[in-house]
Amino acid sequence: MSPGRLATALPSDVVRIVTDSVTEPFWQAAKQRRLVAPRCGDCGTFRLPPTPFCPECQSTAVDWPRLSGRATVYSFAVVHGYPGLPDLTLVPVVVELPDAPGARLVTNVVGVEPADVRIGLALAVDFHPIADGWLLPVFRVAIEEV
Ligand code: ZN
Repeated sequence: MSPGRLATALPSDVVRIVTDSVTEPFWQAAKQRRLVAPRCGDCGTFRLPPTPFCPECQSTAVDWPRLSGRATVYSFAVVHGYPGLPDLTLVPVVVELPDAPGARLVTNVVGVEPADVRIGLALAVDFHPIADGWLLPVFRVAIEEV
């Protein structure tokens, strides 16, 4: 195994987001370097990915509590190269958020050797600049707490 390249996020100008009324609070919070998740305002079920209606109680009420930014790897892939960017290494992941039970977030792990990524790996959120002044939540391997 060759000493791998560290996984990165896509270059800023490649990532464009589209917000709508359902997702905009997530992006507005990320812009302020806060990770939030939509939670049903009636029954408290986390609704990430965001949904217009609560799958449990059909409520449209939603609040956006701030999360700790901790996550664990639920599933991941390793992608070498991207159209026009053959040297890029990406590790797209689905993460679980321990303070938002049931929520799953599709994101990227950065700054890690792809060979070191494992299911259950502890991560911490970071924010990566993307197009139009937004920040994209990405994750790094969590520093062990003493
Ligand atoms: Zn509900």
